[in-house]
Amino acid sequence: MEESCIFCKIIEGRKTADKVYQDDHLVAFHDIKPHAPVHILLVPRKHIRSINDLEKEDRALLGEMLFRAREIARDQGIHQSGYRLVFNVERGGGQYVFHLHLHLMGGW
Ligand code: AMP
Ligand code: ZN
Repeated sequence: MEESCIFCKIIEGRKTADKVYQDDHLVAFHDIKPHAPVHILLVPRKHIRSINDLEKEDRALLGEMLFRAREIARDQGIHQSGYRLVFNVERGGGQYVFHLHLHLMGGW
């Protein structure tokens, strides 16, 4: 947990978000400024800065994020039409929130 991290705040319920899923490891909620008709962020409860900071012990977590993204795409009715899964990595990769997250975008 990082005191100033906006996604940690959402995970802990100190900041509201339109959540669509949560379990012991992951939380998913609608992006506040969607770039697609359906734009959801999947976020691990563990505060990890970016893909660059993943450790070996996070392998399973990353697998869970991808499988869960597929399930949420199905729940949102966009798995047949298709969707994008994106990790932005550090500033040059377009990352602005430094708590690992997977963008799920679709519904076009
Ligand atoms: P990135 O550019 O990959 O770091 O993406 C960060 C994303 O978080 C952006 O698409 C923002 O619109 C989104 N975002 C920032 N603050 C919030 C928030 N409070 N609730 C939901 N989404 C947010
Ligand atoms: Zn965080």
